[in-house]
Amino acid sequence: MTAGPEDPFASDELAERKMRFLFALRSRGVTDTRVLTAMEKVDRGLFVRGIFADRAYEDMPLPIACGQTISQPSVVGLMTQALQVSPRDTVLEVGTGSGYQAAILAHLARRVYTVDRYRRLVREAGELFRQLDITNITAIAADGSFGLPDQGPFDRILVTAAAEDPPGPLLEQLKPGGIMVLPVGQSDAVQSLIKVTRNARGFDYEELRPVRFVPLVEGLGSE
Ligand code: SAH
Repeated sequence: MTAGPEDPFASDELAERKMRFLFALRSRGVTDTRVLTAMEKVDRGLFVRGIFADRAYEDMPLPIACGQTISQPSVVGLMTQALQVSPRDTVLEVGTGSGYQAAILAHLARRVYTVDRYRRLVREAGELFRQLDITNITAIAADGSFGLPDQGPFDRILVTAAAEDPPGPLLEQLKPGGIMVLPVGQSDAVQSLIKVTRNARGFDYEELRPVRFVPLVEGLGSE
């Protein structure tokens, strides 16, 4: 008997891998049912290409094109959970990367805008969204530290690259009552994941946990 996609043994194995993946998320603090359901629907294996593809269901960051990384699934889950996305929200993601995080947000929000400084990453993520029939994501090549003034303001903003401080234009493009989650700190050191909530008077800041992300870099990339 050959192990093809129709082979029940192969699909048993897949189901077990998926169960282990979800168990790892829960044991690392991702408990929000809506977030877990969205993460169950989005196959991380499609967003990791080449030699690392078979490690897609492990809880670790992995290399993607343009020298960037797809974040660790538990960190994706914890950030998504902290963002408290509701089905009517318009969300901005800065740092499309593989498109994995955006695809998860698309299951939770009404509309997702995602930007990356590399055109290649935006193009490849866009192809995956089409292939997966996800129609509520707009992927744009741009320097995300300026946000998207024409599409904003946003209910939620998620930044997946580390800045030294929350960029001013992103704070400005957050609606009153809105939430932004982002890593802040020096690029080569341990950074802090911060949750910013805009209230009537200004902004509340809450420090969530130490994280490590690639840096937020100015301008468009070469690829
Ligand atoms: N969210 C991604 C992982 C992002 S890695 C995923 O789910 O796979 C961080 C990404 O931020 C990289 O792709 C990098 O190119 C991008 N980035 C860095 N600085 C940026 C900037 N100023 N504007 C837009 N994207 C930026």
